[in-house]
Amino acid sequence: MTATAPADALPQTAESTREPEVLTFGCRLNAYESEVMRDHARAAGWRDAVIVNTCAVTKEAERQARQAIRKLRRERPQARIVVTGCAAQVDPRKFGAMPEVDQVIGNTEKMQAASYHTPSPERIVVTDIMAVRETAEHLIAGFDGRARAFVEIQQGCDHRCTFCIIPFGRGPNRSVPMGRVTDQIRTLVAAGFGEIVLTGVDITAYGADLPGRPSLGQMVRRLLAQLPELPRLRLSSLDPVEIDDDLLRLVAEEPRLMPHFHLSIQAGCDMILKRMKRRHLRGDVIALAERLRALRPDLALGADIIAGFPTETEEMFGQSLALVDEIGLSHLHVFPFSARPGTPAARMPRLPGDVVKERAARLRGKGAAAMAAFLSGRIGREARVLVEKDGFGHCEHYLPVRLDGATAPAGSILPARITGIEDGSLTGSLLS
Ligand code: SF4
Repeated sequence: MTATAPADALPQTAESTREPEVLTFGCRLNAYESEVMRDHARAAGWRDAVIVNTCAVTKEAERQARQAIRKLRRERPQARIVVTGCAAQVDPRKFGAMPEVDQVIGNTEKMQAASYHTPSPERIVVTDIMAVRETAEHLIAGFDGRARAFVEIQQGCDHRCTFCIIPFGRGPNRSVPMGRVTDQIRTLVAAGFGEIVLTGVDITAYGADLPGRPSLGQMVRRLLAQLPELPRLRLSSLDPVEIDDDLLRLVAEEPRLMPHFHLSIQAGCDMILKRMKRRHLRGDVIALAERLRALRPDLALGADIIAGFPTETEEMFGQSLALVDEIGLSHLHVFPFSARPGTPAARMPRLPGDVVKERAARLRGKGAAAMAAFLSGRIGREARVLVEKDGFGHCEHYLPVRLDGATAPAGSILPARITGIEDGSLTGSLLS
């Protein structure tokens, strides 16, 4: 899709010394891609430019991006503002219609060096994401200011959960070839990153499109074998019914695989799960949690749960609340239902907004209590803390820890004994 744009594609302003910036909304995959875009823009000599990497998961995420764009234009009248990401991919005209915006590029275009070196004069450059079959070829050298780096292993999604707009922003499932993942991680570990988080849209679908169809578990096993120098590996969100046996074996055997798994559960009621077109039922999640705990008794479990999905009764919602205790969730991400235009759930009879808000608040309250209990349970125990900044970091269970008197550089992994809790973070003293 195209429309005309001002002639001076590359910025030439008084602020021409200013490095290009990326404003990132949404998920870890967006965070990884923002590093790729930053590299491309720098290499192309962009100055005084801001790339806004949007998210389409909720109406609120989109609203925040548009608000940020308006604020940017007020503060930086000369800057070049390029908008991309899932919200721009799904509805490019909406962002193209904003006078503050110079160009809208798609999720495919944002990863291509040509979009920076020889930018199209067109105002909107967004191709059909459903036609894309490859993942972008780019190795990043680092992650600004971080001890932990996110690495894309997979893109897109072939499922069609009724509430979800992501497949329309990201396209079909496609995996990053094993060799490129290994090279990317080797580069980041050599640059001093102590922990790598494997990310994507539906990472349990990894390999379905590759020769030999390697599973996520097989890929992770090979990765750890090929990279003995990799200290810690963490996985981003997992589909409860797509976790393969190789991955389960690694959960039991591999100390470098962090004991913290985040599950894309979405609801605790079978009827709602069916209306969401999820591939699991409540019983599957409970069985999986039991199996994971049998393999690794000390693990932390997290989950995404939607509150207030259309047709959800108080009794059905009660099942989501109860599931938090039943499987011992500690890291809960709560999403108030947000109708995404073009999804089947947006056409279902909706609950009143205040009911959705109230249920989300109750679920968050439940999650906060579960996290507080989990934090208390760590006191007196040992932990290995990845230092991020000024003696602050996260342990294996992805809990925040403040270390007394630690001066080690970011990326260091320090043994500590947990001594207490302060402002929602654990405190710890270094072990020699
Ligand atoms: S699995 Fe479902 S929720 Fe996850 S990205 Fe795909 S469609 Fe969306």
